Amino acid sequence: DTLGQNLRRTVERYGEREALVVRSQGFRATYRQLWELTTRVALGLMAAGVQKGDRVGIWSPNRFEWVVTQYAAARVGAILVNLNPAYKTAELEYALVQSGTSVLLLSRGFRQANYRQMLEEVRPRCPQLRQALVLEDDWERLLASGERASARELEAREASLQFDDPINIQYTSGTTGFPKGATLSHHNVLNNGFFVGEVLRYGPEDRVCIPVPFYHCFGMVMGNLACTSHGACMVIPGEAFEPLAVLEAVQAERCTSLYGVPTMFIGELDHPRFGEFDLSTLRTGIMAGSPCPVEVMKNVQSRMNMREVTICYGMTETSPVSTQSSLDDPLDRRVSTVGRVHPHVEVKIVDAETGAVVPQGTPGELCTRGYSVMLGYWNNAEATRLAIDTAGWMHTGDLATMDAGGYVKIVGRIKDMIIRGGENIYPREVEEFLHTHPGVSETQVIGVPSAKYGEEVMAWVKAKPGVTLTEAELVAFCTGRISTFKVPRYWKFVGEFPMTVTGKVQKFRMREVSVAELG
Ligand code: ATP
Ligand code: MG
Repeated sequence: DTLGQNLRRTVERYGEREALVVRSQGFRATYRQLWELTTRVALGLMAAGVQKGDRVGIWSPNRFEWVVTQYAAARVGAILVNLNPAYKTAELEYALVQSGTSVLLLSRGFRQANYRQMLEEVRPRCPQLRQALVLEDDWERLLASGERASARELEAREASLQFDDPINIQYTSGTTGFPKGATLSHHNVLNNGFFVGEVLRYGPEDRVCIPVPFYHCFGMVMGNLACTSHGACMVIPGEAFEPLAVLEAVQAERCTSLYGVPTMFIGELDHPRFGEFDLSTLRTGIMAGSPCPVEVMKNVQSRMNMREVTICYGMTETSPVSTQSSLDDPLDRRVSTVGRVHPHVEVKIVDAETGAVVPQGTPGELCTRGYSVMLGYWNNAEATRLAIDTAGWMHTGDLATMDAGGYVKIVGRIKDMIIRGGENIYPREVEEFLHTHPGVSETQVIGVPSAKYGEEVMAWVKAKPGVTLTEAELVAFCTGRISTFKVPRYWKFVGEFPMTVTGKVQKFRMREVSVAELG
């Protein structure tokens, strides 16, 4: 199927059911209304001269127009370019030029940033950009312009599309450096969204709260496409992540499922008003994106009533999900592993040097193969060749172990592993341990240069509200419980961590700050 065919099928079955609620905009639509809106915007894009394969950019936080544009662009065969709402001018210019975006839909701004002004700055250097439409000002005009296009032409266009046509350039989160543009097809993203919905047993009664950004595959695939392929309703609390808005949305909209990266769930659980909300409608949900501490998963399961919560592991380049628990898996597996291989995907764990599959329980690089692997990095054959080998395996750069039951644990990123005096230390292990301290809300462990050992362990710690932690107390807590060489040598107490807009901690920035501070 293409995205359009799939949505049409859902409309035939569940046309009168609610499809999308965006609370910050007061927007509500049924599947039939959503379909009609995507038709009008698809016609508007045709009237604007958008051809198959043209790049249509969207630079906006979570708004209803995002979802409509996602489908409208796919229906005219355009390649949607997801632009990060946190981009500044240099990044915007890079993405627009690199992707060759010819039509851009943008919001007025997000978190004090004025997008229009930023766009005017870079525009002289983006000659291929023909048209820029501001969602808040030009949306009605876009809908009206669609009346000039012919419905028959749209039908013909849709009939000409193939399931393996590229429809999306998604930039990676930029957790480890400069974002890379993964090119994905209908087949890639639609199947991945569909299987996520299958695993979570979504149906038309489900209402899924999506506080993660659409700009990223967590929002637009595991969120939007998992819902639309199953007739479930997407509930969007607001443009930016706010713990209170999420709790309010879950209660008011009677959500059955909730998504988030670990920091989002931590923010909700730690919120002083957490106890006021009725979350009893929640059944399931997904934590993903970065290492998911067992303690946090347990709290989500018990305090948020998410009995069927699972962890997903994946990456933008693989549409994104490669592993996830099934709802039948025992709870201890669901909170402590990223589950087993997803339907129709292969996973293997290899020695990064030799490429040989490692024994069970031994950490190695996780590689994955199947329908979900991207077409390639946009206009970057060299990077594609380095990431996907000739046998079709995507080399993820993540270290993982697999047990006899096929359950996978993510040990960490190869780049983040600390080598102290020849000893390998996985930050994840130290983080998991520190999370068991009752005063620790969140912690991130990095390696910093050391003349003596090559690297030393450093922990950044955020305390729970109202708690004061000291270095001496935490060192005492570690002593005798984890090996001496793993006990952080340096500690830093912080209120927040350097973060991508997708809510991931940027350890490379933590290292920059720490190196500067430690001198
Ligand atoms: P960039 O590639 O630009 O540095 P990124 O890798 O964070 O950023 P994404 O594609 O959004 O960009 O994220 C994929 C990565 O997130 C994975 O490679 C993995 O390191 C991490 N990740 C995703 N899910 C999990 C999980 N459940 N547990 C641990 N790590 C995870
Ligand atoms: Mg990556």
